[in-house]
Amino acid sequence: MGRPEKAKMRKMTGQPHGLFPVGNQGGRLRSIQSALTAGYISSQFADFYCHDCQAQTLFRRCHLCDGTNVEERSKAPIEAGERVPLKRSIPIKDVFSSTLNKLKTKIYPDLIKGVRGTTNKRHIPEHLAKAILRAKHNIAVNKDGTTRYDCSEIAITHFKPEEIGTPLQTLKELGYTHDIHHQPLTSPTQTLELLPQDIIIPCCPHSPEEGADEILFRTSKFIDDELRYLYHLKPYYNLTSKKDLVGELILGLAPHTSAAILGRIIGFSKTQTFLAHPFFHAAMRRDADGDESCIFLLMDGFLNFSKLYLPESRGSSMDAPLVLTYLLNPSEVDDMVFNLDRAWRYPLELYKAARAFKKPWDVKIELIADTLNTPAQFEGIGFTHDTTNINAGVLCSAYKTLPSMQEKLDGQMNLARKIRAVDEADVARLVIEKHFIRDIRGNLRKFSQQEIRCVDCNEKFRRPPLKGACTVCGGKLVFTISEGSIIKYLEPALKLARDYDVPAYLKENMDIVRRMVEENFGKDAEKQEGLGTFFS
Ligand SMILES: [Zn+2]
Ligand SMILES: [Zn+2]
Repeated sequence: MGRPEKAKMRKMTGQPHGLFPVGNQGGRLRSIQSALTAGYISSQFADFYCHDCQAQTLFRRCHLCDGTNVEERSKAPIEAGERVPLKRSIPIKDVFSSTLNKLKTKIYPDLIKGVRGTTNKRHIPEHLAKAILRAKHNIAVNKDGTTRYDCSEIAITHFKPEEIGTPLQTLKELGYTHDIHHQPLTSPTQTLELLPQDIIIPCCPHSPEEGADEILFRTSKFIDDELRYLYHLKPYYNLTSKKDLVGELILGLAPHTSAAILGRIIGFSKTQTFLAHPFFHAAMRRDADGDESCIFLLMDGFLNFSKLYLPESRGSSMDAPLVLTYLLNPSEVDDMVFNLDRAWRYPLELYKAARAFKKPWDVKIELIADTLNTPAQFEGIGFTHDTTNINAGVLCSAYKTLPSMQEKLDGQMNLARKIRAVDEADVARLVIEKHFIRDIRGNLRKFSQQEIRCVDCNEKFRRPPLKGACTVCGGKLVFTISEGSIIKYLEPALKLARDYDVPAYLKENMDIVRRMVEENFGKDAEKQEGLGTFFS
């Protein structure tokens, strides 16, 4: 099975709105509301001290007097080889009401979610106001303080105004005055060459997830509120509709890297992909062929990102915008893109050479590499085959809309049977070998080594406590890996092996897996049925 396209807001485990610790008092949902009921939060907090109030405070700006005469006393947390304990109990009701005063409001969202605890070295929390405002605008926070939109990458070099829904006048203001034939821009069907740092963001009407326009628009509203109430500054974006995002600057950042590249939104596609120039993808160190990357607003990076939020662990700087490339220099990007050809047509010579099984480099086709460090490197790239509209394809893979694994599988096998070039028995073999067997075996192994979890406080235990209840709060204990998660793929896999002529070795392998499962759970293992079974 392939990997379906992706375009959605990134949500960390628990989907927090802010990096504010709620401790065990946040309950199962890690919410501020639960902590308010408890009346306090016991967690690790950096030791900020306000000299004006002569009292401990939580933030760099005092939560009591809103002043900035604040010192971080815990800046050197290691003293005489021992860590000064930062764990303390804070009066969340007072902190919360002073934060609401700051936001000049008495009403607040029904559910504001924080994190169980901060993982950064100095235990610096994000300001509580940010969590409240993100909850108000219904956006999630990433571990570095920004709000990210993840999407699959596709390269694009040319577009038509009608494909991206941007008015001609706006495009002219952004620099798109002439089409590829050097004619002035007068019609939405003219083809324009994309500037290397311009991007088209995904807004797929068929996707179950919200489009990037929706998320970035709400993030802009969050940032404006934040500037106004938290920082006492003028709002920056002032957008009135999602269309106003055109012209705004974003950061593109690929996972496992820490260098962001500056981009500009010029329009919206109905696909679920991050459409950008091959140079732009290469600047993110990706080859753009179905890789995944993310976008976030530039002001979000400036205002909300902080290295101080990142955990101590090695590798935590990955995926954080530590460096910003604001001007794309083609000769500095990943060199894979240099081999991209930029010709307007392939000569007859190419086809003749192909028939004679010659090597690709035996025929001279103009490549990106040929124009590096010349004025031609930024423009004049050609293409050989035109498309009517970039939004004309399948906009959302059935893989994402079919609800159950069985239906996804039936869909795939149905297609495999119809396509003559596909060997359906081999597809069945691949699906069993690459997915089902591995999943079942892996989960079975994990089942015997699993941790036990408390339903009330989420405390995890390496082994079940003898008293049969949570030793922290007395709550009920449950498995973290259920029997259902192991046997859910067993039946589809066995059926697949029966229905298609898979190799004898694989059939025997499946038999062994089935026996292993039966030995663990008994022969008449309780079947996990989807709710749908009762309605069909
Ligand atoms: Zn103070
Ligand atoms: Zn518990």
